[in-house]
Amino acid sequence: MQNRFIDSLSELPKPLATALIPLLNEEFCGHIDASQLAELVNISGMPEDKLLLSILPIAAALAKPSISEFYVGAIAKGESGDIYMGANFELSSEALFHTVHAEQSAISHAWLNGEQKIVDIIVNFSPCGHCRQFMNELVNGININIHLPGQQPQLLAHYLPYAFGPADLQVTKPLLSKSNIEFSLNSDDPMIIEAVDQAGLSYAPYTSNLASVVLETKDGHTYCGRYAENAAFNPSMMPMQMALSNLIRHNRDYSDINRAVLIESSAGKISLANATMDTLQAVSAVELEHIFVDPS
Ligand SMILES: [Zn+2]
Repeated sequence: MQNRFIDSLSELPKPLATALIPLLNEEFCGHIDASQLAELVNISGMPEDKLLLSILPIAAALAKPSISEFYVGAIAKGESGDIYMGANFELSSEALFHTVHAEQSAISHAWLNGEQKIVDIIVNFSPCGHCRQFMNELVNGININIHLPGQQPQLLAHYLPYAFGPADLQVTKPLLSKSNIEFSLNSDDPMIIEAVDQAGLSYAPYTSNLASVVLETKDGHTYCGRYAENAAFNPSMMPMQMALSNLIRHNRDYSDINRAVLIESSAGKISLANATMDTLQAVSAVELEHIFVDPS
C-alpha cells in the first residue's frame, strides 16, 4: 500500500478500511470501477452514498497543497458507475492561478478515462464559486448531485442559482460531450501521437484552441492533460495543470519528468505556450516541446 494513505485509512470504519487496502496498491490513482465499488458496498455493509462520503479522506490524501496545507478531496461518479478521485494541488512559491481544485482534478480524471457524463460529485468541503462555475460547463451540469458531509444532497442548480454557462454563449456541446477532431501530423514518436490524439479530445469552444500536454517520466510512463475551457474563461483548466494533477494522482514526482509536449491547433485564436512554459519551469528544467497541428 502507498504510504500516503496510511493516516487517512485510520479515519475509515474498520470493515471499509480492510476492504479498501487491496485496492490501494502502488498503481492506485483514485479510480475505482463499478464492480470494485459494488464489492466495497457489499463487504462494508454501508449504503453507497454513505460509503462515498466515508472514503473522502482517501481522495484528500491525493492532494499536494504545498501553500495552503488544506487537503481537499473530491469524487466524481460517472454515468458508467465508476468513481474517480481528485484532490487539490498548488505549486510552491508560484502564483495561485496554477492551482487545481479537487473537483477539477476528479472531473478531469473521469474525462480522461472516457466518461461522457458526471452524475454525482462528493466533496469534503463546500465547492468554491470557481468549482461551481467549472461544473456548470459539464454536460447536464446543473443537474449534478452535490454530496457534502452532514448535508442533504443538492443539485448544482441549488449551489449556483442564476447560472451563466455555455448555452449563454451558444455552445451546444458542453464539456464531456463526445467529440474527436482529427489533426494531420506525420510523426512516429508515440508521445507526440498520443498528444495529438488527446488534443483532438480537448474542449475549446470559445477559442478553437484545441490543445493537450503529455508528460513523460524517466521510466517511460506518460501522463496527459487536455485543455478544458469555461464560459467564464478564468475557471478554464489548462492542459499542463491537468497533466500535473494527473501525475500527482499517480504518486509521481516532478523530478520524474523527462519530456513535456504541448500540442495546439493552428486554428486557435490564442496560444497556451507561454503559460504552459511558465508552469513547466516552476517544476522542471525540462524544455517544453511545442507543436502546432492543422485540423484535417
Ligand atoms: Zn474549488
